[in-house]
Parts: sequence; C-alpha cells; structure tokens
Amino acid sequence: MADRNRSRRRKKKSAKRLGVILLLELLLLITIAGSYYIVSKNKKNDDNPGKVVDNTKDNKDKTDKKDKDNKAEEKLTPEELEALKEQERLLQEIAEREDLIEQANKFKLSYDYDSAIDMIKTYKGKEGGYELYPALLSAINTLEAEKASLVLYGGSYTSVTQFNHIFFHSLVADNSKAFDGDYESKGYNMYMTTAYEFEKMMQSMYEDGYVLVSVHDLAKQIIDENGKTKFVAGEIYLPPGKKPFVLSQDDVNYYDYMDGDGFASRIVIGEDGKPTCEMILEDGSVVQGPYDIVPILDAFVEEHPDFSYKGAKGILALTGYEGSLGYRTDDPTSPTYEQDKETVKEVARVLKETGWEFASHSYNHRNMQEKSFEFIKNDTNRWLDEVGSLVGETDIFIFPYGVDIETTMGSYSGDKYKFLKEAGFNYFHGVDSKPWMHLKDDYVRMTRRPLDGQAMLEFPERLQDLFNLEEIIDPERPSKDW
Ligand SMILES: [Zn+2]
Repeated sequence: MADRNRSRRRKKKSAKRLGVILLLELLLLITIAGSYYIVSKNKKNDDNPGKVVDNTKDNKDKTDKKDKDNKAEEKLTPEELEALKEQERLLQEIAEREDLIEQANKFKLSYDYDSAIDMIKTYKGKEGGYELYPALLSAINTLEAEKASLVLYGGSYTSVTQFNHIFFHSLVADNSKAFDGDYESKGYNMYMTTAYEFEKMMQSMYEDGYVLVSVHDLAKQIIDENGKTKFVAGEIYLPPGKKPFVLSQDDVNYYDYMDGDGFASRIVIGEDGKPTCEMILEDGSVVQGPYDIVPILDAFVEEHPDFSYKGAKGILALTGYEGSLGYRTDDPTSPTYEQDKETVKEVARVLKETGWEFASHSYNHRNMQEKSFEFIKNDTNRWLDEVGSLVGETDIFIFPYGVDIETTMGSYSGDKYKFLKEAGFNYFHGVDSKPWMHLKDDYVRMTRRPLDGQAMLEFPERLQDLFNLEEIIDPERPSKDW
C-alpha cells in the first residue's frame, strides 16, 4: 500500500512537471501566434484601400483575390517576409518536438525508458541536436528521473530464478460445448482453462503487480571477457512492487479432436490488422472474436500497457503433426496447402511484431525422456522443416507433457541435449508445481506452473500465492470428475 501511495505521489510530481513544461510551450506558442496575427492583419489592412469589387464572375473574383494576396505579400519588406517564414518554421518545429515527446512517452508505458530517451536524442533541429531544446532536455530529465526510481525485478525477487512461468492450453470459449459430458469433457475439465477464468486470472495478476516479460529479457546471452558466449540473468528494472513473470501457451494447433467442442479453430488476422480467432459454430458458419489467449491478452495489454515489459506477451508452443495455428500445413495433399503456408507465415509475422514468441513443442508430442535419440533427432528436424520454416527461427523448446529430456538436477549432458543445442535451442521448459530455474552458461532451463482445471480443483493449495480461487473458478466448470 505504501508503495502504491509513493508511486502515486511520484506520478503527481511528474504530472506537475509536465504541466509546467506544457505551460511554457503554450506561452511561446501564444507569443509567436500573436506576432503572426499582427503581421497578417497589417497585410490585410494594406490590402483594403485598393479593393476592387467585381460580382460578375466568381472565377475572376477568385483570381483577383489571389493576385491581391500576392500583391499583399509583395508589399511586405523582405525582412518582414523573412520573419514570417521563420515564425512558421519555428511553430512547425515546436509541433514536431511535442509530437516526438508524445511518441517517446509511449515507450515508458511498458517501462522501456531507454528507448524513450534514445528516441528523443535522435532529434535534429535546424539549430542542432536535442541538447539545444529546453522542451526535449526537460522531457529527458523527467524520463531519467523516473527511470532512476525503478528497482531490479521490482524489488519483488532477488534473482530471475524466482520468477513465475505460468502456462495454459487452448482456452474453452464455449463452456456448454466443452463440458457437455461427452468423451472429451473430463480431459477439458482437467487440462483446460476457460476464457472466463483466464480473464479473471490476468485481472488479478495485474492488480497484484505482475508484469509479463520475455524469457529473452529474463536471461541474455552475452560474450564474456574471454570471448565465450554465456547466459546471464537479465536486468529487468520495474517500479517497486512489480513482479515479472513469463506466460506460455501449449499446443496452439487447434487439433481435430477439439472440433465442435467450443474452442477456437484457428488464429487469423482481423480486418483491423490485429490477430484474432475464428470459431466454427454448429451451423457451420464461422465467427471471429476473442476465443483464445492471443486476442484476449492483446486487448488486455492494450488497455493496460503497464502489464507488459517492453511489449512482451507470451510464448506460443506448436507441435507439427496437425499443422500449426489451426492450419493443416502438415498435409501436402490439402487443396489449401500452399495458401495455408503463406497465411501461417503472415499470421506468425504479425504475432511476433506484437510481442508473441514461438517455441517448438516437438513435432509428434511424445515423451522425450522415453523416446530414443534417433526419434528426437528426426522429430526435431521435421518440426524445423515443417513448422520452424513458417514461424521463423526460435531457440525455445517446450517439452511435451512437461517431461524434460533429462532428470538431472545438475547440468544437461546427454546426446539429446547436445543435439537440441546444436539445432539452435537455448531455453528449455518443463512443468513443475513450484517454479525453479537453472541458468547455465550454455542454456536456460525453467519449469512452468499449470493454471488448468487440475491445478484449480485438485491442488488449489499450489495456487494460493497467485489467486483467490473462489474469484477465479468459472461457475460453469464441472466439479472434479477424475
Ligand atoms: Zn502439449
């Protein structure tokens, strides 16, 4: 509470400072606009005595008026004209600088103070760089002061290894269809989260100070003094009380078995250019809307940009055996095969632009601890070939069933790891009830917490630190039935 008051006071202070800056700029504007007005008024007065009235022809009238205006300008001394032009230029530059500050301030909404400051520093006016303009210097000072008030990991953690990484499967968009008592209902009740619950969770986490971060900001690959690359903890600075966390979603493939069960059918780009979902209704008609995590979280972050560090959203983990993102790009005999591949490329491009990242969830979704090295090698190569080729390069691997390739709590040493590392993977994610993470020179290994029906109904104590489940659980969700 004290932290919140403090940040409110700080906001008040910087708002005041901004007010003073705006007032100064306004005064300058009034002065310039005032002199402009006087000059143009003089010009008009000069014009009046010689005014010729001709009502017969409109066109002629207009031409005459133009001539007269030109004459009026001609009547200004060269010095006056020069002054007029200079004033126009000054006004335009002031507007440009104000616009620049406004654009830069958008970065700070997601704690990206460096980008905001860098953006202002790129300014070049007629007189020179940003340092010559008080409005820009003042904006930079304000940004620097706010940046200085941030603390490492929001002061909530002492190490990145304490961050939460939560994950979901496809959200249930239509409860009546998912929980209709058919063969799949029990599985959905265990492993899925409803759209209602997801929205409640995000709202609750937002209110608790949680902030989405990318695993690539959580751990960064650097080159040390000996020229060797290694992973080190990222330095994520946030306002006091904020808590960085990572979000991922598994199996964003919209498998055939989910057809007709109240889930989205694929991710598309809507008419507004933003990613959204399609869902197929009972009568076969297709509707677009927020039927899964991507559009729901996008809208939430748009409304609350401070829920995301530098625009991070989440990781979308894809298998390959039924294509990707709801497109059957695994089947070369499909009549829409070529078109679907192009569409997935385009959807993936837009998703990445809007803060989403992709992970391999393997091609066939098999237990990678049990499967042979040879199987893992072929499976991974097929994923890279059929899915990686569409969504682009990634160095994140999310294990099917959350089962790690090795059980060691030391360092990975097996052939499977060596192969995956060579194939370009650096971040490895399994599942555990409590978060743990290894940050090694060569890789990052981080477990994730499921926020599904099983966690909520069977192990509610595991989620106590995150939610008051009474406020989260969908009233339409069946009780524990497994
Ligand atoms: Zn999975």
